[in-house]
Amino acid sequence: MLNIKNIQRALLKYAGQDDEQLARTLAVYGAVLQRAAQLAKDAPGPVPEWTPEEISAARLGKAVLLSERPVVLDPVRLEAVARDLAQTFIDAAGLTGKERAACEAVDWAGVAAKLPSPLDAEGLAAFLPAAAQAAGNEGLGEIFVLPVTGFALRVLLDAAGTEASRAIDALEPDTVHAERPLRCPVCGSAAAIASVAGTMRNGNVKKLYCTCCGASWKFERIRCALCGDEAVSDLNYVHDEGDEAHRLHVCKSCGGAMPTVFAGEELQFNPDVEGMVMSALENYYDAEAAGAK
Ligand SMILES: [Zn+2]
Ligand SMILES: [Zn+2]
Repeated sequence: MLNIKNIQRALLKYAGQDDEQLARTLAVYGAVLQRAAQLAKDAPGPVPEWTPEEISAARLGKAVLLSERPVVLDPVRLEAVARDLAQTFIDAAGLTGKERAACEAVDWAGVAAKLPSPLDAEGLAAFLPAAAQAAGNEGLGEIFVLPVTGFALRVLLDAAGTEASRAIDALEPDTVHAERPLRCPVCGSAAAIASVAGTMRNGNVKKLYCTCCGASWKFERIRCALCGDEAVSDLNYVHDEGDEAHRLHVCKSCGGAMPTVFAGEELQFNPDVEGMVMSALENYYDAEAAGAK
């Protein structure tokens, strides 16, 4: 869920960073994230009226809500939001000259025209690669076009993701154990990050977060969030010395590593900001894994 205060609190935690690259990442993408939260607050996206049966099926991973009831998003708004966020990026990054001109030349109308209507989980999965192509500048894809498009989509989907998460949580009695979905129950995307945090009533709870639509859902503590493996001997946490909060949940069965933040208290955790912080640790792990081969 996009929440300006929560984002600012999370960014403040990492202010005065020694790691220059991380400081720059947080300055640029943090500015875009805050602007996205403001735009989502000013005009929240549509929230479909899902039935209790649909919510219940999504909670168990038997349905993806966006495919049950596809949403109709306004491509004109998507384009306007993308332009706004792109400008925020350009200003925060302090781009000048050729770099600035290249970023300003991106064809956001072409990107927005690729948005399927109505939008279901399948259409969503196909949209980002199509958007990157339509933008007309391959070199800018990873650092500019894809993140800006992703945040713009999030502005339009966040209300649906947030409301659906609330409905799923409300349905779930704390004591009943049920198989939880690996992929986002709302939009079908892969989970981006996990948190383990103290809650008021239930002690430490693990949650997975979708940064595509803003949904979150409870998950088993000892289970790979990438492949679903539950064998204790296959799973362990790795982290940098001196930083117990940011860990990777590494799985022998699928070879994956899920970024997991031990957040202390749930309210202190912001999945988008922590995702930016964790990308540094993931790169480190990739380098280690490559070195081990
Ligand atoms: Zn989602
Ligand atoms: Zn796994």
